[in-house]
Amino acid sequence: MTINRRDFVKVLGASAAVGAAGIPFIAHAGKKARVVVVGGGYAGATCAKYLTIYEPDIDVTLIEQNQKFYSCPLSNEVLAGERKLDTLRFGYDGLRNRGINVVYDKVTDVDPAAKKVKTGGGKSFGYDYLVVGPGISFVPGAIEGYDEAAAEKMPHAWKAGPQTALLRKQVEGMKNGGVVMISAPPNPFRCPPGPYERAAQIAHYLKHHKPKSKVIIMDAKDRFSKQGLFTEGYNMFYKDMIEWRSAADDGSVVGVDAANGVLMTEFDEHTPDVANIIPPQRAGEIAVNAGLTDDSGWCPVNQRNFESTLHKSVYVIGDACIAGKMPKSGYAANSQGKVAAADIASRANGMKMPEPSYVNTCYSLITPEHGISVAMVYELKDGKIVGVKGSGGLSPMGADPAVREAEAVYARSWYHNITADIFG
Ligand SMILES: Cc1cc2nc3c(=O)[nH]c(=O)nc-3n(C[C@H](O)[C@H](O)[C@H](O)COP(=O)(O)OP(=O)(O)OC[C@H]3O[C@@H](n4cnc5c(N)ncnc54)[C@H](O)[C@@H]3O)c2cc1C
Repeated sequence: MTINRRDFVKVLGASAAVGAAGIPFIAHAGKKARVVVVGGGYAGATCAKYLTIYEPDIDVTLIEQNQKFYSCPLSNEVLAGERKLDTLRFGYDGLRNRGINVVYDKVTDVDPAAKKVKTGGGKSFGYDYLVVGPGISFVPGAIEGYDEAAAEKMPHAWKAGPQTALLRKQVEGMKNGGVVMISAPPNPFRCPPGPYERAAQIAHYLKHHKPKSKVIIMDAKDRFSKQGLFTEGYNMFYKDMIEWRSAADDGSVVGVDAANGVLMTEFDEHTPDVANIIPPQRAGEIAVNAGLTDDSGWCPVNQRNFESTLHKSVYVIGDACIAGKMPKSGYAANSQGKVAAADIASRANGMKMPEPSYVNTCYSLITPEHGISVAMVYELKDGKIVGVKGSGGLSPMGADPAVREAEAVYARSWYHNITADIFG
């Protein structure tokens, strides 16, 4: 199916991610543009889907290493025993039904000069545009002794799936009076409010099943996202159950002895009953190996369209990219996927993408009925993504319980809507 330029402009203009329209001729007349998307998560799957909406006359191949995707958003509810892991699981039939060529394989090599990617399964795919949305990887050696084997004893559960199930099993198996220690990473990292929501969710379970227990957050930072709202919630529901140790208070975990269950800080050692280590992070491995990262470990991009500043015709979206003031969140990744798709569809039509706008909201659940949030609309100013003044903000402090209850409802409704938007 082909759409004419007027229809294309209409479709693009209807998207929440873009505004007014652009100009000139059809660049790929007679030849379909080929787009390869690496990674079928919040960013990559969105981009693949929206490419087929903005420009049905593009060949889209999505290469994802797992046949099922597990959502990190709402995975902390699994740790609380409030949600089953399989409610976080998604397949790719919806995208396949849209005409996307979904390939289950791991991309092992990117050759930007030859415009080709190779997979572990021995396949090779040529592209006109490559979109890389691999999420995060953990900085090797950043926490001494913490590697894949250690993660089987001290789970990170920062990529949802078996790690989430393992951490839940450990919390469930812990004695009443035990200590769960969560090691929170330095900035920037995936989901800034995530470790603090996790502390609340685990405390919620412990309060009702093992009330003599404690959760201690060991932090590599001296401040954290939505700190006032979290502290208010902790005091309200988990007084004396959750303790936060800042970096200045020797909270930063620098090493582990996984075999003996020990966490090391600069001046001390701790032996909790359950250790959840969330290590320092950088862009997903394939982005690092493909030379898409800078010294920060993240991928610099043109923040207008997410094209890499290091390799032409390669886009990096989601947690892996440096996106100005946008946090590393699923909603941000979804928004970026749409902008990148709009840019590629525009280029394939020989047009300039309309001025983009971007959006994010992050909900956190302190109890199943007590939600808080931070929201923002973003715009491009002097080449950088910045928040639009007055467009968002935090939930109010000291709000009525009905407000918190409504936010908990919005959190679950957000999850339902965004996953339908991505995988449906
Ligand atoms: C506990 C927790 C709670 C969270 N809660 C929220 C929330 O409430 N709201 C929110 O907005 N965000 C939340 N987030 C953040 C959100 O999960 C991430 O920001 C989001 O998943 C980023 O999307 P992404 O596409 O960049 O990465 P991902 O969603 O992780 O997708 C990356 C995909 O790429 C694949 N991949 C990687 N490398 C390769 C390769 N070489 N070949 C093939 N495939 C590959 C992976 O298998 C994966 O499927 C939370 C995160 C955590 C950990």
